[in-house]
Amino acid sequence: MRIIPPLYIITPTYRRPEQIAELTRLAQTLMHVQNVHWLVIEDAKEKTPHVTELLSRTGISFEHLLAPMPESYKLRKGSKPRGVSNRNRGLEWLRENATSGVFYFADDDNTYDIKIFEEMRSTEKVSMWPVGLCTKTGLSTPILKNGSFSGFFDGWIAGRKFPVDMAGFAVSVKFLLERPRAAMPYKPGFEEDGFLKSLAPFEPKQIEFKAQNCTKILVWHTQTRKNEPALAIDTAKYGNTNLIMLRQQIV
Ligand code: UDP
Ligand code: MN
Repeated sequence: MRIIPPLYIITPTYRRPEQIAELTRLAQTLMHVQNVHWLVIEDAKEKTPHVTELLSRTGISFEHLLAPMPESYKLRKGSKPRGVSNRNRGLEWLRENATSGVFYFADDDNTYDIKIFEEMRSTEKVSMWPVGLCTKTGLSTPILKNGSFSGFFDGWIAGRKFPVDMAGFAVSVKFLLERPRAAMPYKPGFEEDGFLKSLAPFEPKQIEFKAQNCTKILVWHTQTRKNEPALAIDTAKYGNTNLIMLRQQIV
């Protein structure tokens, strides 16, 4: 019997009006994937009850963990290292609990074709593939010329050794475990590059190309419009109605 390698999906998330909508979509994508273990890691001090409830009714095997962004980064002006504490918590969990398989950083707001999960399952070291809707160029991908690697296409190269999107690569658990210091830096814009560099020794020529030699887009860096927190319900007017229960489900 051939055993299919487990997939560990590391999802950073945080409380906001869109959170449950995003996680519902991702949960119902993952419900189509075999042998998956979902690490849902909240940037929060306490677990959001609606997240706990959603996770338990999907039937997906999961961990619900917490990893608040350190205060020093939260207070900083300008761009913040979004999802970094969460992803590092995921790596820590893998080091303590996983021995084989593949892991992938799947943000809660992206759009995933379920085929991408079967593509990444065979990763031996680090695999990569194209990501749609990424930066103004609309695309981030390794470039293959006559089938051989010849660099990266991305709207923002910025001197990065690995100018790729978070949604564009997966890593073998064994490969990670052989690199006890690998981690993601708290460096906005350089999270992917910093993490992939921390996997040294690892060079671009070792990348395994997926999605039919990087000719198919199976994941999209979608972004949801931000919604304002909902207004309070007038309890004097709607006290004994369904609106009270519904309002509790909305941030
Ligand atoms: N995120 C988080 N804390 C934050 C902001 C974002 O945990 O303060 C998570 C978010 O849920 C997502 C990931 O980090 O899974 C990337 O954030 P976002 O989608 O806002 O970044 P973008 O895609 O715009 O770079
Ligand atoms: Mn996003």
